[in-house]
Formats: sequence, C-alpha cells, structure tokens
Amino acid sequence: MGKKFVCVVAVSATVVCASAAALVIRHRSQKSSGQWAKAMAILTEFEEKCQTPVEKLRQVADDMTAEMHAGLDSEGGSKLKMLISYVDNLPTGDEKGWFYALDLGGTNFRVLRVQLGGIENRVVKKEFQEVSIPPHLMVGNSDGLFDFIAKALSDFVDSEKEDFHIPEGRQRELGFTFSFPVRQTSIASGTLIKWTKGFSIEDTVGQDIVGELTKAMERVKLDMRVSALVNDTIGTLAGGRYKNPDVIAAVILGTGTNAAYVEKVTEINKWEGLPPTSGEMVINMEWGNFHSEHLPLTEYDSALDNESLNPGEQIFEKIISGMYLGEIVRRVLLRMAEEAAFFGDVVPPKLKIPFILRTPHMSAMHHDTSPDLKVVATKMNDVLEISKTSLKTRKVIVKLCDIVATRGARLSAAGIFGILKKTGRDSVNDDNQKSVIAMDGGLFEHYGKFSGCMESSLKELLGEERSENVVVELSSDGSGIGATLLAASHSQYLENE
Ligand code: ADP
Ligand code: MG
Repeated sequence: MGKKFVCVVAVSATVVCASAAALVIRHRSQKSSGQWAKAMAILTEFEEKCQTPVEKLRQVADDMTAEMHAGLDSEGGSKLKMLISYVDNLPTGDEKGWFYALDLGGTNFRVLRVQLGGIENRVVKKEFQEVSIPPHLMVGNSDGLFDFIAKALSDFVDSEKEDFHIPEGRQRELGFTFSFPVRQTSIASGTLIKWTKGFSIEDTVGQDIVGELTKAMERVKLDMRVSALVNDTIGTLAGGRYKNPDVIAAVILGTGTNAAYVEKVTEINKWEGLPPTSGEMVINMEWGNFHSEHLPLTEYDSALDNESLNPGEQIFEKIISGMYLGEIVRRVLLRMAEEAAFFGDVVPPKLKIPFILRTPHMSAMHHDTSPDLKVVATKMNDVLEISKTSLKTRKVIVKLCDIVATRGARLSAAGIFGILKKTGRDSVNDDNQKSVIAMDGGLFEHYGKFSGCMESSLKELLGEERSENVVVELSSDGSGIGATLLAASHSQYLENE
C-alpha cells in the first residue's frame, strides 16, 4: 500500500515536473521570439536608413558635381580639395626608356623598373618587388621611414641585370606614387597635407615629400632623380590611359577611396596666374572627404566616426571603403547582441573589439552560396568565437552584409555619375562618346557583389543607351606602370632627344 502510494506520488511528481518543463520551454520560446522580433526591428530600422533609391543617388551625384565646382573655384571652397596634379599630358604610348617607380600608400610598398618600348613595343620588360613596412616606421620621424625606403630602392637597383641600359652619364629616373593628400607645387614636388591610413610622422607634415626621399637617397648614396610625384589615382589614370585612350577618370576602392579625372584648365579658377598648359589637367579629387546632407547616414556611422582617429573627416570614405564596411557590420551585430540577445544571453566578448571583423571576412560571408551557409558559420566561429549559430541567424548576417555593401556600392556609383555630369559625359550627346573609368583597389577587385552592384547602379543612373558607352574597367597595377610613364614623359633628358 505504502509502495503504491509512493508510486502515485512519483507519477504525480513526474506530471508536475513535465508540465513545469513545458511551462519553462513555452516561456523561453516566448522570450526568444520576442528577442528575435527585437533583433529584426533593429535590422529593419538600419535597412531603412541605408536606403539608396535612385532619386537619392541623383541628389548625391548633384552634390558631388556642385562640390567639384566649388573646390575648383577656390582653395578651401569645398570639402573636396580638387588638387591640381600638374599632370597635363597623359601617356600617349610613345614613352621610351628604362624607368623606376616606387609605390607607397598602404601597408606595403612596391618598387618596380620597366622598359618602355614606344608605340610599337609598349611595356617590354617589368620587374618588381614588394616590401612590407615595419609598423614602427609608420609613426615617429621621417628619417626612419624614408631611410628604410631608400635602402630598399638601393638594394633593388643593385639587382639590375646587364640588360638594363641606362645610357652613359645619365641618372636613373623615378616615378613616385605617394598615396596621401599632397599639395603639388610642380610635377615633381609637393607638400604633405596630412597622413591617413594609420601613418603618423609629424615632422613630415607640410614638408616637400620629394625632398625627404631625395635626402634619404643621398644618405644611402643612391643617384636617382624623382621625375614625377603622383598618387595612386593619378597613376591609375595614367596607366589606364596608356592601355585605353578613352580613359577619363580613375577610382580607387581599396582600404580607402579616392578619384581623379581629366578637367579642362578653363574650369579651374584657382589655377589663375599659374603657367599656361595644354588645356587639360588631371585633378586629384580626394573624394573620400566628400560630404552631403543626402548621404544615408545612420547612428552606427556617427559612432564609428566619433571614435575614429579623424572625426568629422572622410565621411564618404567611412561608408564606402574597405577599411570600414566590416566594422559597420560588427557595430550592428553588437547592438543586436546587446539589446536582443541575438547570439544568446551572453554578448560574445570578441564582438566588442573594434575592427575585428574585416571587410574580406564580410565579403566571404556575403558570397557564401552553400545551402547551410557554412562560410558564415566558420567566420563567426574563427573571427568572433561565436560557435553555435542557427541557419536563421546566419541568413540575417548575410542580409546585413548585403545592406552595408549595397549602400557603399550604390554611393560609389553616384560619385562616378557626379564626375560624368561634371565633364558632360552623363547623357547621350551627339556622338554618345565613349568614357572609360579605370578602377583599382582590393575592394573593387575582390568583392564581386560590391563591384557588381556598383556597375549596375551606374547603369541605372545612366540609362540604357548612355551606359552602352560608359565602361568601368579594372586596371590593377596600372598605378605602378602609370608612375613610370609619367616619369618618362617628364624626364629631364626629353628636351635633348
Ligand atoms: P590599399 O588600398 O591599402 O592600397 P588594396 O588596393 O590592395 O590596398 O586594398 C586592400 C583593401 O581591399 C583591404 O583593406 C580590404 O578592405 C579590401 N579587400 C581585400 N580583399 C578583399 C576581399 N576579398 N573582399 C573584400 N574586400 C577586400
Ligand atoms: Mg593601393
């Protein structure tokens, strides 16, 4: 009897337990569906603020055109510096001889030498070497960085083979690609306005950057002359023009972003008083600093900007370039984790680390075509140490990547459309003249969904007929060759030939 009683109690205990468990589960799923809805609300709000309907893109492009005018009218007239490059003759193909180039502007620098063979033979020979810059030289004083570069250049010169023929009694000549904002004073001189991209060598700001390099070359007894100082956009434009005479602008989408284009000298009011030129001038826009009230900015962008090394500056760059896209995704995910337990009750600690999620990670997740989004799961695990994600969660992450990339790509297209408008190439004119934009940079080259979206948005802006004659062309490595071409066309020996 006693036994039976115990048994009944046991049974009812089980029943009680079971229904308690059911209650807990129901409570949890109610909680999680509430949290899910909250996470989706955060995502939807972000998506809405990032919208770039074509009318908005047109407004952004109009502002770009207006800012270009303002920057050409007066020094400091716009957030766009519209720097005069002193490149008034782009390569024709006639360039001949042996030339060196040095490309500095990121974490690596490259040295190269080419043999230019003229219109028939073009680039006959090309040799290059890539050297990574020790991080401690990116800050501190100029001697450290420039001595390091001069030494690397000197070693590279020492590796010249016998087939490298610098005519007797001539100096070696160099095209120097220096991708930081510089106010040019001639084709081969210019003062540094500011460092960007993690460099900070205060004693060089305001100094002639060619002078700094020349002194360092003298210290290592390297007899070489800088014949042209350019940045990566100018180099890409020159290299692009060499391959295709219809190239009229160059855009870099890499760690940062910038653009250069060919302008009529008569449009450059601040050029007044300077020597007459061929009628055209390449302008370095420094478009990363573009700003417009029509840019679709969100609270995540303002927070990123506020916490950056250069608050209030480079706003366009901060929503479209490779240094920042992954970071924007991280910020939205963090908010979803903090306010809606998107990754469970504990906010993953790694998700709190700025810049931990890089744009290449984002692009790998965005391109994941596996049915269970394996790549997303792997990146979450490897980069953020978030080990268990549901398929539903992973789909949301892909969606978030898409929102951020689409906004950046469409705004880049609006920027290009602005340049086309400024140069009267945005619509079908008498001959529907061909216009090619030379592109370079890791973001454009490797993030297919980004570049694809940029190209289709540009088509949308141009309309079907005009877009048949506007081409966006990858011109990787154009910038190095471009610098040697400009060194050739500004060679000190040209007059004698
Ligand atoms: P830099 O701009 O420093 O001169 P690159 O033009 O090579 O150098 O661009 C490098 C940048 O391109 C990286 O910082 C990164 O943001 C972006 N990038 C590189 N690979 C990828 C990729 N697979 N997907 C998306 N972005 C990439
Ligand atoms: Mg680069």
